Amino acid sequence: MGGARSVAFADLGCKLNQFETESIATQLQEKGYRIIEFDAPADAYVVNTCTVTNRADRKSRNLFNRARRATQAAQAAAELSAEPAAGTPLVVLTGCFVNSHRDELESDGRTYIIANEQKHSIPALVDAHFRGEVVHPAGNVFDFPVAKRIFHTRTTVKVQDGCDNFCSFCIIPSVRGRAVSRSSRDVVAAVAEAVTAGAREIVLTGVNMSRYRDGGVDFTGLVEACLELPGQSSGHPGERDYRLRISSLEPDGLADRFIRLFEHPRMAPHLHLCLQSGSQRMLLAMRRQYTYEEYRRLAADLRSIDPTFNITTDLLVGFPSEEDDDFAASLAAIDEIGFGHVHTFPYSPREGTRAERMRGQVPSRVKTERSAAVRTAADAAKRRYRESLLGSRERLLVERAERRDGTLVLTGLGEHYVPISVRLPARVGEHARASADPPPRYENTFLEARIESLGEGDDPVLHGSPG
Ligand code: SF4
Repeated sequence: MGGARSVAFADLGCKLNQFETESIATQLQEKGYRIIEFDAPADAYVVNTCTVTNRADRKSRNLFNRARRATQAAQAAAELSAEPAAGTPLVVLTGCFVNSHRDELESDGRTYIIANEQKHSIPALVDAHFRGEVVHPAGNVFDFPVAKRIFHTRTTVKVQDGCDNFCSFCIIPSVRGRAVSRSSRDVVAAVAEAVTAGAREIVLTGVNMSRYRDGGVDFTGLVEACLELPGQSSGHPGERDYRLRISSLEPDGLADRFIRLFEHPRMAPHLHLCLQSGSQRMLLAMRRQYTYEEYRRLAADLRSIDPTFNITTDLLVGFPSEEDDDFAASLAAIDEIGFGHVHTFPYSPREGTRAERMRGQVPSRVKTERSAAVRTAADAAKRRYRESLLGSRERLLVERAERRDGTLVLTGLGEHYVPISVRLPARVGEHARASADPPPRYENTFLEARIESLGEGDDPVLHGSPG
């Protein structure tokens, strides 16, 4: 029955959500479902939401409403049924927005509201719905098999969930729950499985991986174990390798042993280290667990291993009682650290957090102005960072190979997590014009590229040539 059905996905928020969406899509694809674009008419829509800001709430609601509208006409026929009915189009809403807005959301026979803890059961729920059956969720938050590359070239492995830090602005500990670590044996097995299946880049993901612990294994030990797996050959010359990337980390509790991981040739020299503010006073008010000085030293240590190590971050602007001086410290940090990318968001109170009750809420107008100033400074810093890669060699993991003007153009990300485009020499273009054969398969292979120029815009692409 599954073979004729189609499922569309939309997700918001963190890398963990992306991984979970991709894993669910993989499982449904393996059951015979077609995975299609969210805008296309589908038999089922899965919306994996986020609640980290008011904006994320709004987007979550919008996606949910879009999915419901898309299924409305077909649902009308089943309007009287209160039970799941085989064949009726289905909307599944899950993710952190569900956990924080449970009271206002209601499941019925055509809409399933699935809490984070039960997200892993969505493939079985969808399949059961179309068979006219009901399944009861079982399992745990790590019951997500390795995802195939459906939406991204990189393959993500979940190592941890939840958080115990309770930063004063953050709702995550309430919606994802307390910190839990997946067993190191399972993580290494999942990475090995992905490598054997041909993955060239594995991304380790979790909510707060710095606090990973499985018996005597901490996060550094876990990464060390993942780096020592034998590589697989894809049949392309030089293709016997994979690289490992860490998706996002809290910058506390990271010792020298952790820094030295980046001496390993398989480690991608990039980290998303959430700074949130350059002001020590704000870091304290946010209950962050590091000082700005510690963050600065961590950045310097990483750059002592690779001077072009890419550090990206989150900055929260307009936190309660943030004064001009505090904000100026955040702007100064953008230049001092030399971030390769800054994700900024204006503070919005989340119900049930300490910051919601703090005095000195910053007016919206000021938050908007400060966000705009951060974006301007961050765009300039990103450009400077990418310029620093001119003349270097990057190892591009090819995501797309397209014919343009008779030649092949390969695009993807380098090890420093920057977008790169490489135009292959003319003879390949001649081959492409002259031959009806499909071009050699480049996707998901590594290509050494000399970086020669930088494009325009707020996400400028590096251009290079093979070699
Ligand atoms: S470390 Fe702080 S910001 Fe990050 S998930 Fe935990 S509570 Fe939230």
